[in-house]
Amino acid sequence: MFDDLLALFFPESCFACDGVLARGEKYICTKCNVKLPYTDFHVHGATELNPLQRRFWGKVPVRFAFSYFTFQNKGSVQRLLHQLKYKGAKELGVHLGQRYGSILQDHHYHEQFDLIVPVPLHKQKQRKRGYNQSAHFALGLAAAMEVPTVSNILVRTINTSTQTRKDRLNRWQNVEQVFEVKKPETIAGKHVLIVDDVLTTGATLEACAVALFNAGASEVSVVTIAAA
Ligand SMILES: [Zn+2]
Repeated sequence: MFDDLLALFFPESCFACDGVLARGEKYICTKCNVKLPYTDFHVHGATELNPLQRRFWGKVPVRFAFSYFTFQNKGSVQRLLHQLKYKGAKELGVHLGQRYGSILQDHHYHEQFDLIVPVPLHKQKQRKRGYNQSAHFALGLAAAMEVPTVSNILVRTINTSTQTRKDRLNRWQNVEQVFEVKKPETIAGKHVLIVDDVLTTGATLEACAVALFNAGASEVSVVTIAAA
């Protein structure tokens, strides 16, 4: 009864549409859950039918490239990411990770991965925000697939926030240098799943993959919440 009273005065709202959540709904309302732009990338695996996979061809040999959603400007996914990144909705990240993780598990991908590593924030940015949104998505994935996750292996050595205006090539060259692998023995010979919140150019994930390969990872896959 206390919960009901609480819900009456402080109704929880949907992270995707801001509408009031009904009883039994959590984080995202049923209507939004039906309409969200889910991908079928995991159905196609590493084949050419997976458009995200194709984007890494000729760049860096990722084993699998998956994304839970397609990113659309001004859409519900953008609202979800905004809540996760700037409004402290860490539990939403874990929730989405658990949901996508169980889909990946249903397709037996959990047997492939040895370790889940989130794309790090620069420590200044992390201090300011208080958390790394990608690490929370990684926690959910890890729980659903029963694969360990570690967030102190990959570190960002340069703050890239001032680079947004630079052209793509310059940006890639700059980004390439900014990731460093600590404790390479932890990833040596392992298939590492790198986790990010959103993929736009793919430059960040490429740079992470290169850093992990250079440090001795045997295989690298990538997964994001949304891909543009
Ligand atoms: Zn909704």
